[in-house]
Amino acid sequence: MHSHDERPYSYCPMCGGGLEPRTLKATEPERLVCVRCGFVFYLDPKVAVGTIIRDEDSRIVLVRRAIEPGYGKWVFPGGYVDRGEQVHTAAVREARKKPASNALSVAAGSAS
Ligand SMILES: [Zn+2]
Repeated sequence: MHSHDERPYSYCPMCGGGLEPRTLKATEPERLVCVRCGFVFYLDPKVAVGTIIRDEDSRIVLVRRAIEPGYGKWVFPGGYVDRGEQVHTAAVREARKKPASNALSVAAGSAS
C-alpha cells in the first residue's frame, strides 16, 4: 500500500467541503467525513462475507435483515469486509453482531 492511500481524498464529492477522518463506530476503522455536509466517504473494496452456521441440532442459522435492500428478509449472516480487515475476521464479526432475537434456525434442506 502506498503512503498516499491512507488519505487519498481531501474534498467532499458532494459539496466540496473538507474531509476529515472520524470514528463513527468504535468497532470500525475511521471514515472520511465532510465537515460541511456530513457526507461519509467510504473507502473500501466492497468485499462481502457470508457465513453458514449450524447449531447443535445441525440446523442452519438465518437472520432477518434490518436494513435495505431486502429489509425483513431472512438471509445467511454476513456483511462487508472493512479495508485492511482479514476476511475470516470480518466473517466472525458479522456473525456475532446479529442479535439473537433476529435469528432463526431451520432444518437444513427443509426451507421452501
Ligand atoms: Zn460535503
